[in-house]
Amino acid sequence: MSSSISSVANGREADSKIAPGPILLLGAPGVGKGTQAKELVKLWGIPQISTGDLLRANVAQSTSLGQVAKEIMGRGELVPDSLVNEMVAVRLQQPDTINGYILDGFPRTLGQAGWLDGRLAAQAGTLPVVAVSIQVNYNQLLRRITGRRNCPVCQTIYNVYVNPPKQDGVCDVEGTALTQRADDTEEVFKERMRAYGALTAPVVEHYRGLGRFAEVDGDRPIGMIAAGIVAAVERLRK
Ligand code: AMP
Repeated sequence: MSSSISSVANGREADSKIAPGPILLLGAPGVGKGTQAKELVKLWGIPQISTGDLLRANVAQSTSLGQVAKEIMGRGELVPDSLVNEMVAVRLQQPDTINGYILDGFPRTLGQAGWLDGRLAAQAGTLPVVAVSIQVNYNQLLRRITGRRNCPVCQTIYNVYVNPPKQDGVCDVEGTALTQRADDTEEVFKERMRAYGALTAPVVEHYRGLGRFAEVDGDRPIGMIAAGIVAAVERLRK
């Protein structure tokens, strides 16, 4: 799965020593932000910060944030900005973010984008964000969402239609039973797409307007999409 990005990365390493800085992966639910973030983590050694993963961890631990977020997430709606921004603020204080990070699933509203922009502007010496939006059509997204399965141990993401495990329902790496996210149903997907159109699509336009923005076609093999993101980030960082 990662061989193509590795070969792209190896071919590029000699002429490309960019500091990745803060990178935003934007796009509708199911476009592959999480999968691509993991490819970029391997390549650049900077952390993936997925607000969905952080929220799910809070739900699993039944923190006060998790208790509020659980039902909202189950309906496919967005968790309030103030709670998500605070969670991201705490994560960004970790020392592993010093050379950059990949924000996956954040910002999802103009309020979150304004908060992030303000925070970065106030930090001297921080590179400006580069935003990459991944595009996939609606029917593909529905197949990806309803076919998505996750390994609860190593977090590898499979898809029963396009990227199935070798043995049905079992992780290739861990041998553990794969799980399906509670919100990966067709009904909840429709609400997530509605929230995306109403609240997150304007965020894409916001970053497009700022200029440090690129779009990549997400309906291609994983390695090719990753190579497209790498090329876009390098271009935008020059
Ligand atoms: P994801 O794993 O990115 O698809 O997110 C799963 C769910 O977590 C979303 O449907 C929202 O309910 C919630 N969520 C994740 N990120 C955010 C965010 N930046 N703002 C508000 N809610 C979020």
